[in-house]
Amino acid sequence: MIPVTKPFLPAKEVYQKYLDGIWHRRWLTNMGPLASELELKLKVHLNVKHLLFVTNGTIALQMAIKALNLSGEIITTPFSFIATTSCIVWENCKPVFVDIDEHSLNIDPNKIEQAITDKTTAILATHVYGNPCDVIALQKIADKHNLKIIYDGAHAFGVEVNGKSIFEYGDISTCSLHATKLYHSIEGGLIFTKEADLLKKMAYIRNFGFDGPEAFSELGINGKNSEFHAAMGLANLEMITQIHENRKKLCERYDEKLKNFKAIKPLWRHDASQNYAYYPVVVESEALLHKSIETLTAHEIFVRRYFYPSLASVLPYLKPVEMPVTDSIASRVMCLPLYEDLTVEEVDLICRLILRNQNNS
Ligand SMILES: *Cc1c(COP(=O)(O)O)cnc(C)c1O
Repeated sequence: MIPVTKPFLPAKEVYQKYLDGIWHRRWLTNMGPLASELELKLKVHLNVKHLLFVTNGTIALQMAIKALNLSGEIITTPFSFIATTSCIVWENCKPVFVDIDEHSLNIDPNKIEQAITDKTTAILATHVYGNPCDVIALQKIADKHNLKIIYDGAHAFGVEVNGKSIFEYGDISTCSLHATKLYHSIEGGLIFTKEADLLKKMAYIRNFGFDGPEAFSELGINGKNSEFHAAMGLANLEMITQIHENRKKLCERYDEKLKNFKAIKPLWRHDASQNYAYYPVVVESEALLHKSIETLTAHEIFVRRYFYPSLASVLPYLKPVEMPVTDSIASRVMCLPLYEDLTVEEVDLICRLILRNQNNS
């Protein structure tokens, strides 16, 4: 059986080394020494000024919306994971969908201005599969209309644009460190901002708004993460170069073997580095996608229709809207298996099955 993904696990001894420290200190959560060490090491690794380690990538988004005091309408993409939209609704704002660009699969900057109303307060965009949005165009629009920008960078760990971390763009960026992500702490999330005041505010929000043992600075929530999660983050960070190199090798193998597959890959931003978080392909037709999935499933190889369907079309709490580009892409996209111990031979097998199936159709 080949699943679409398998969480990375470090050597048990490496994790055990961190656990021994936890047992010794009996400091289990509430921003303990491992959580602080992880924040420091991630700042260096990602080359960013500020970040916060939080419970998960969803609460990171909610804290971002709260910290920026957003209300009214937030412009967002329908081609993302559910959390991008649900966090907007959860924070009592209204998501306004704007269709994606058919090449990058990110929100289309050319369609944003027509969606802006006097109630619009922000843009929440996802760097889909880690491929950076058109951050320059989005910033121009935000400046012109006095809007905030939040980037859902759940897929974008380690990506740089022009040599600068993708997390340095926008007012606030977030990342998910969930077990299925490229780099993880089992459950976990990160929040980034360049503004010290905003960082401070979010640090209070993360801890119930406590400002000292008996005082509160503002409305907060429990966004803290534990020492056990930080330990996994630290152990995995020791392996990040190997994780990256290995995924790169597998993706390049897919590229080479799938040259003749009737499908295209999202167009990666020219001045950005790649993190090989996913291997998405947009197949020529939905029929060919279904046939490919059928053939692979028959061989116990599992792909994922990620992201399908469009968030603008399926949520019971939102009125469905047609998004022609998203609807078309979502109906034809799949992510192929990609994880640490996937072998080159397995990639070859997957590609052989896909191509044989195409030639028989
Ligand atoms: C995984 C993911 C999230 C949510 O992150 P969690 O850590 O699982 O809460 C948000 N947005 C996108 C695009 C994701 O892929």
